[in-house]
Amino acid sequence: MMKSFGYAAQSAKTPLAPFKFERRDPGPNDVVIDIQFCGVCHSDLHQIRNEWDDSLYPMVPGHEIVGRVVSVGSAVTKFKVGDTAGVGVFVDSCRVCPSCKAGEQQYCDLGMIPTYNGRDKNGDLTFGGYANNIVVDEAYTYPISPKLNLAGVAPLLCAGITTYSPLRHWKVGKGKKVGIVGLGGLGHMGLKFAHSFGAHVVQFTTSLSKKEDALRLGADEVVLSKDSAAMRAHASSFDFILDTASAPHDLNLYLALLKRDAAMVLVGLPDQPPTVQVGALAFQRRVLSGSAIGGIPETQEMLDYCAEHNIVADVEMIPIQKIAEAYDRMLRNDVKYRFVIDMASLQK
Ligand code: NAP
Ligand code: ZN
Ligand code: ZN
Repeated sequence: MMKSFGYAAQSAKTPLAPFKFERRDPGPNDVVIDIQFCGVCHSDLHQIRNEWDDSLYPMVPGHEIVGRVVSVGSAVTKFKVGDTAGVGVFVDSCRVCPSCKAGEQQYCDLGMIPTYNGRDKNGDLTFGGYANNIVVDEAYTYPISPKLNLAGVAPLLCAGITTYSPLRHWKVGKGKKVGIVGLGGLGHMGLKFAHSFGAHVVQFTTSLSKKEDALRLGADEVVLSKDSAAMRAHASSFDFILDTASAPHDLNLYLALLKRDAAMVLVGLPDQPPTVQVGALAFQRRVLSGSAIGGIPETQEMLDYCAEHNIVADVEMIPIQKIAEAYDRMLRNDVKYRFVIDMASLQK
């Protein structure tokens, strides 16, 4: 077994603490990555606190991973030692179901194998990226362009693809009026992509203090969602709304802003179910849908798009020792706009 070291939660109530563990011995198709940076996703916090009721402990979170390849198995073709590699939200899947065959591994019939808080094919718990290293099958690992700032690339592996995928699926682009709900890790990437795709973008936020940042990040307009007059002024005018909010909120306020036949897609995963007024959907044939991360081909497409258009996340770098403080700020909506852990801090 390969020795690893990171930070883990031992239960829903205990803070993250240093943790020694083992990963599987690398096989012929595996790469071993020394992790340099790992983004801090709100899903890490939901799962550490068992807010989705499916948590397995001990839990080493982290699924926005970039680092250096330090060894490759005999059958590996995509990487050589010294390359930069990324790992996202899943590390394997069945590979034969219709979704896997379509390159939509996140929707695998048997369930994707998550990077952490899941079980590997051998039954072992999977452990994520708040750690010094990781072993991953090269097929579930992404080559990373050396052109981009590496710390800013890490959040693309979850926040990036989770917003890129629905914006592409619902054909957001020039001539479309698009709303982004929530300006956090996902929201700021959604805003950057929607702007880059040429849409007219309206950022919805509960935080007045984020207005200037939203405009700088590409918003054409910013609406404070608590301001009901400002909300009403946009009634029935949106082609698409992407909702990234991490906590329960009233979806009906946003549904009323969609045009006939337009869609709102939920990517935020609050721990409580929403209440939806059917009339808000039925009387304008509006669509309410959801979306989860993205498959391997689309994640690679997104990484290539970012390299070409010089898009990375706006990051605030922290040492792993400051993770509890980062979570506290995340809960107060005080993220600008993704915490990224500098894994060199593990050595301290
Ligand atoms: P984050 O950085 O903490 O940002 C969440 C933002 O939501 C906050 O900054 C805030 O923005 C807004 N918000 C919070 N509470 C709200 C409320 N009560 N009403 C309205 N807006 C509220 O979180 P994140 O990492 O972007 O993740 C967002 C959500 O997406 C989480 O639930 C996460 O688990 C989920 N997620 C889903 C997928 C997927 O595949 N579907 C992938 C990754 C993450 P303002 O201050 O601008 O209001
Ligand atoms: Zn995530
Ligand atoms: Zn499958």
